[in-house]
Amino acid sequence: MGLLEGKTGIVFGVANKRSLAWAIAQALSREGMRLAFTYQGERLKDSVAALTSTLPDSLLLPCDVTNDAEVADVFGRVDAELGRLDSLVHSVAYAPKDDLENEFVNTSREGFKLAHDISAYSLVALTKAALPLFEKSGGGSVVALTYYGAEKAVEGYNLMGVAKASLEASVRYLAANLGPRNVRVNAISAGPVNTLAARGIKGFTGMLHHHAEKAPLRRNVELEEVGNAALFLVSPMSSGITGEVMFVDCGYNIVGL
Ligand code: NAP
Repeated sequence: MGLLEGKTGIVFGVANKRSLAWAIAQALSREGMRLAFTYQGERLKDSVAALTSTLPDSLLLPCDVTNDAEVADVFGRVDAELGRLDSLVHSVAYAPKDDLENEFVNTSREGFKLAHDISAYSLVALTKAALPLFEKSGGGSVVALTYYGAEKAVEGYNLMGVAKASLEASVRYLAANLGPRNVRVNAISAGPVNTLAARGIKGFTGMLHHHAEKAPLRRNVELEEVGNAALFLVSPMSSGITGEVMFVDCGYNIVGL
């Protein structure tokens, strides 16, 4: 019997088979969790459906995380169709290309707002919408995806680093707020992986090479390793852990010189 048999979860952020969210979904499904997924806009619907329909009894719903009505609809449908909710995976981020590429000092007000809305505030909004369902299930586990650029200034990461700092602080405040309701909130700080979102970062290929050279394990992290770490954080194996940012980066963050 799988670790997550009889449990249900919702995964935000599958765009294609290289998405970190898809690696996580596969790990959760392998352990018996029934999953709901969301896609943003019609553009990706068919390709996301082709993936998610390969998992048993999955549900696929539209959701732009900046739209409160769509967020409310998603959790209404999850309640109606899955009847319970035990976990939420937040694997969503966006910043306008110009604001990532320009000098940081030239970040636009609009870009700053949008990046924080999609990449950080959405964690609060989604967790709030999931809360009544978590309470029905006796608790829940939330996992978000972040990057080292939240802690250190990483060339090319710019505005996204500031939004990730906000996301990581939101993880801690949500964990402190919701711990008494048996809801755990953690983040995985993943090393660089070549995904659709990553291609928006200028110099990303150089970043991959640099990480592989400097990381103690002398390589980049595999998608499956991020999936397995999320499985740990979702499962009862991590029942004593909340409010943490866990690095899954082949050790890159521990190295000084
Ligand atoms: P990805 O496959 O491109 O996933 C990003 C997802 O965010 C996409 O599904 C995208 O949907 C979704 N998204 C953007 N705006 C949205 C909105 N308004 N509403 C709903 N969904 C929205 O890239 P990924 O690398 O797996 O990214 C997943 C998470 O991991 C992100 O938080 C990212 O910052 C984080 N992360 C990535 C790396 C890396 O190196 N790849 C490292 C550390 C952390 P659309 O495509 O439809 O816009």
